[in-house]
Amino acid sequence: QKPVPSDIDISRSQHPKKIRDLAKEVGITDHELIPYGAYKGKVSLHALKRLEHRKDGKYILVAGITPTPLGEGKSTTTMGLAQALGGHLGKMAFANVRQPSMGPTFGIKGGAAGGGYAQVIPMDEFNMHLTGDIHAISAANNLLAAAIDTRMFHEKSQKDASLYKRLVPKNKFTPSMLKRLKKLGIDKTDPASLTKEEIRKFARLDIDPDTITWKRVVDCNDRHLRTITVGEAPTEKGDIRQTGFDITVASECMAVLALSNSLHDMRERLGNMVVASSRDGVPITCDDLGAGGALTALMKDAIMPNLMQTLEGTPVLVHAGPFANISIGASSVLADKIALKLVGSEPGENHEEKAGYVITEAGFDFTMGGERFFNIKCRSSGLVPDTVVIVATVRALKLHGGGPDVKPGQKLPDAYLNANVDLVRNGCSNLKKQIQNAKSYGVPVVVAINRFSSDSAEEIEIIREEALAAGANDAIASNHWEEGGLGAIDLAKGVIKAANEGSHDDFKLLYDIPNTSAEDKLNIIAREMYGAEKVELSPLAREKIERYTKQGFGNLPICIAKTQYSLSHDPNLKGVPSGFTVPIRDVRASVGAGYLYALAAEIMTIPGLPTYAGFMNVEVDDEGNIDGLF
Ligand code: ADP
Repeated sequence: QKPVPSDIDISRSQHPKKIRDLAKEVGITDHELIPYGAYKGKVSLHALKRLEHRKDGKYILVAGITPTPLGEGKSTTTMGLAQALGGHLGKMAFANVRQPSMGPTFGIKGGAAGGGYAQVIPMDEFNMHLTGDIHAISAANNLLAAAIDTRMFHEKSQKDASLYKRLVPKNKFTPSMLKRLKKLGIDKTDPASLTKEEIRKFARLDIDPDTITWKRVVDCNDRHLRTITVGEAPTEKGDIRQTGFDITVASECMAVLALSNSLHDMRERLGNMVVASSRDGVPITCDDLGAGGALTALMKDAIMPNLMQTLEGTPVLVHAGPFANISIGASSVLADKIALKLVGSEPGENHEEKAGYVITEAGFDFTMGGERFFNIKCRSSGLVPDTVVIVATVRALKLHGGGPDVKPGQKLPDAYLNANVDLVRNGCSNLKKQIQNAKSYGVPVVVAINRFSSDSAEEIEIIREEALAAGANDAIASNHWEEGGLGAIDLAKGVIKAANEGSHDDFKLLYDIPNTSAEDKLNIIAREMYGAEKVELSPLAREKIERYTKQGFGNLPICIAKTQYSLSHDPNLKGVPSGFTVPIRDVRASVGAGYLYALAAEIMTIPGLPTYAGFMNVEVDDEGNIDGLF
């Protein structure tokens, strides 16, 4: 329909298939589907076991060029591509995306379900509670926060023997306790056999309050919780401490959910999360506090991916949503693995013919999102993408070519509404760098030119030319926003061709583990991906790297937190900046999730709300329909 109606009107105009029917269609058995209402459901991890013998389908990563603050349509393209492959070219296809946080939904950004005729439906369910995974993560995260403060409180008021007696009341060690004993080198299983010295070592975590990195979380942009004081009630006997809140998606529990390969793996990772150091400098883990099992219990349903559908009834797995600023910004390893088996081929079948496609998205541009996708997510999963799709838009390339600033909520300047081939050609430098970066992993690259109604044929042709000259396997304009899957058929054909041309033998990660020091990893990412001269470590960052290396965490991959609006750390540097030095202010560890993260900028881990916030648009009619979410 033209003009294209609003996202919510389009979303409402389509009646979704019943989730049971969709599950059946894609080969999920009755036992493996746990419906949450009529249109969404969880997929049990048993599916993975049942389909173990299958060869995985094709794995396609959607990433982007350095975006404008308006977004360049990665989610929209992910949906459009799946719709074209699944609905129009007769392939099995899944779109895998993150679950959006309600912070941005009620703040500035609005929903994240794609747009136009390429969306996930029902959009309100997608953008709000879904099946409660984010709430489960809040519960798990905050249980651990309570465990830390309470443990310090009890340790303060009790002598070694009584502390031990209360910790082990039934004279039996829990699995977490056995893990702690092993860590302490105490090879005993009978609680009665510990010496006085061993009892002291075991019972006293002796947490140094100044080293606590674990915060409380809430899935709301509540800026006044950034710094808070806990323990003010007289019952806490003066145990007052300054701490703060992060948004739930910034919790390490969320990153663990995204990177786990199984329930067992999630249990181990949750238990290994480091929350503080002891006064002797020993890292204190979630399992030291005895909380690993309970956190896993709270998240055991969250580990199952959520099945939804596109506007055209193509299956979508919505799962996890780690905060892209300080984490991987991609959906889960398990969602990808399940989808790859569901679209895979049986032994004896012709794989090229039978294999379907899993289109998975990485937040931010390729240089950040794609780098983390490969070096952190793929390192964890062992999966190898068959093609990278880089989403480019005329408007973002114009910005990189010298166009004026673009701001959400403001009218686009004329340069973006009228053809301007010079700006586009200039700006293609950014696209070229993204292509080269993606190709350095040995994976075929297809550029998806996400077409806007204001784009001219000449501008699109320039992008095609420049992309091919930069080494892309193909560059194809796509009109899915206006036409749904039908508009992305050419793109889908290009992706099929590229995905069948490449070979996993060419795949290589950016750095080796365990042979690269943390500082070298930072330099490799900054030089080879960002085009920087080098990184410069602050004294704090250097001290933290030394500490983590000493504690045995130096071998973890590294996620660099920086602006998404430039290839560099400075959002004002457009195009392809060079010769800059990336300042690393601080380095932190997500040991359970399995990476260090370095801060190249002040990163807000709980955003604020604007004066006119998204929540002000929201109303519910007498039938229960939600208006104004988007
Ligand atoms: P990203 O995933 O890159 O952040 P989205 O897919 O969420 O971007 O799209 C950002 C916004 O732009 C959405 O509101 C979407 O409806 C809109 N959009 C995307 N592609 C187009 C297009 N081709 N024409 C018009 N609007 C578009």
